[in-house]
Amino acid sequence: MIKSLFFAFILLNVFCLFSQDISYVIEDDEKYKCSMILEDLDYLSKKYDNYVFPMQIGYSEFGIPLKVVRIGRKQKSKYSILMVGNIHAREDYSSKLVMKFMNLYLMSINGESNLYPNAKLYLDSLDIYIFPLANPDGLKIAHEDWEGIEKHRYDVCNMIIKETFAEWKANGKGIDLNDSFDDGNHHVKHGGKGEETPASEDFKGNYPAEPIETQYIQKFVQSLRPLMTISYHTKGDLVYWADAKTHEMFDGLDTEINNKVLEVSGFEEVGVSQNPETYGCGLENYVRAKMGLPGSCVELSKSDNNRKQYADSLFNKLVWSKSKQIPMVYIKEVFLRKKKILSISKSFTLNKSEN
Ligand SMILES: [Zn+2]
Repeated sequence: MIKSLFFAFILLNVFCLFSQDISYVIEDDEKYKCSMILEDLDYLSKKYDNYVFPMQIGYSEFGIPLKVVRIGRKQKSKYSILMVGNIHAREDYSSKLVMKFMNLYLMSINGESNLYPNAKLYLDSLDIYIFPLANPDGLKIAHEDWEGIEKHRYDVCNMIIKETFAEWKANGKGIDLNDSFDDGNHHVKHGGKGEETPASEDFKGNYPAEPIETQYIQKFVQSLRPLMTISYHTKGDLVYWADAKTHEMFDGLDTEINNKVLEVSGFEEVGVSQNPETYGCGLENYVRAKMGLPGSCVELSKSDNNRKQYADSLFNKLVWSKSKQIPMVYIKEVFLRKKKILSISKSFTLNKSEN
């Protein structure tokens, strides 16, 4: 009897050691509301305060803080990588992916999970910046979560709304943030076919970087100069990884990194984006075109004909199961290629100043 109890005790300990659920906080099946994302971010920052350093890079049009965390050593590293979620309001799977990744990455550092075995190693030479909620106002609109933004409700309701609030993609002022970055393509974006006034999607704004969120994000990436920026979206199970105007400059580096991502995810391979009317003005385009640094847009979950995201309860099945290694692959591949990335970006900057 004592022997079998002892056995059960050992088994329980082994189970706990390898279970990924110890102190895992993200609610897999719940609607991931603005307040939950910010609370989870604060909770993880406090719990793992040896490795997580929170900051605020600005605020949204409606005054909600734009919170970013640096995962790294106490001393800031010279090198970094940036992961961004929820530039598009209705796509909160992207916030959940980066937050769940962050949670399990921190647990892996602490020996509480074995999902990312080398998590601690990378922190010796790289800081990981997590920015899970780039468009808090838009997310609140998509969730019809009016608390704290009630005074903007009338204006929002008077914009062009395609279908219901659940399909909202833009920011609180009805500008699509990923159509608004100042990458040099704003004048051609949409080729005259987009919306001309604030709308739930497809309005690029009256001039480049009109939304305050875009301005803060551009300022942040300009000062940080991350070796790579990865922006998570839905849908498609694919990655937009290169565009015709900048692809050559990367001398194969973008292809190599993207191939590694396709290997772990089984995502569909797409070609180099050709038409700036379609691809232009995203965050990934901005870092490539204005900083000579690689950037990718990862489209989570399979494609279908609906604008709306799939049910919250399908996150693990449609997103996490395929994509949990994607952030890790970017970290690893960027870590291995930091010299080449720096040299490409340096020649880009030199060329720009000579012209
Ligand atoms: Zn998107």
